[in-house]
Amino acid sequence: MIFNIVTLFTDFFESPLHSGLLGKAVESGLISVNVVDLRDYSEGNYRRCDDYPYGGGAGMVLKPESLFKALDDLKRDDSQVVLTSPGGKVFSQAMAEDMARHREICLVCGHYEGVDQRVIDKYVDCEISVGDYVLSGGEYAALVIVDAVSRLVPGFMSNEESLMEESFNDFLLEYPHYTRPAEYQGLWVPEVLISGNHGNIAEWRLQQRIEKTRRVRPDLYKRYLLRKKMGDT
Ligand code: SAH
Repeated sequence: MIFNIVTLFTDFFESPLHSGLLGKAVESGLISVNVVDLRDYSEGNYRRCDDYPYGGGAGMVLKPESLFKALDDLKRDDSQVVLTSPGGKVFSQAMAEDMARHREICLVCGHYEGVDQRVIDKYVDCEISVGDYVLSGGEYAALVIVDAVSRLVPGFMSNEESLMEESFNDFLLEYPHYTRPAEYQGLWVPEVLISGNHGNIAEWRLQQRIEKTRRVRPDLYKRYLLRKKMGDT
């Protein structure tokens, strides 16, 4: 799987691409992340990539020329071009699963006020937001997307089973985890988990998932109930 990240701030990606599971996946060649400097596609002494917005208003907009050139270079027939944008579709596990089926993904990091609309019209397959808040740059969002998609690539996780029982599968959040010691400062691990009865443990975990989802994410809980109802009929 190949990610191309188009950015004005290549330094931003240095440490995350070398740390943890993502770092391991990059090192082993399971995924490849090319951080592309947008300024390499700009012209003139100042290699300027932004300009004032037509029609007035605050801030600057990323110009079309360098983005057109970069995307002409990077876009392939089978690649997906994604613009990070607070105005995009809100990113979800289902979208990550969908993206993991592509061989190549090109992520465009916006900055300042965003990018010239002609870039979106000509090259962008989908705009993705990582949540209903405004970040200062698309780099944060691109990293979120790279990580969420990469961990779905077979071989990324040492224990693939952990992908099956995660938050959002079946529209439920995950159950709580405990590890040793069984008692710490008077706080005990729930007895059922030490009981060795796998049926009871599975039932307890499911109840915990349902209860937490109902309490914290009523929107997901509604979808869970709907799915359950459809499954029962
Ligand atoms: N003026 C814009 C905000 C620009 S923020 C607006 O009001 O919609 C600058 C850049 O940060 C954006 O171009 C985008 O690439 C990135 N960004 C900001 N918030 C984001 C979010 N929630 N999800 C994904 N990208 C985001």
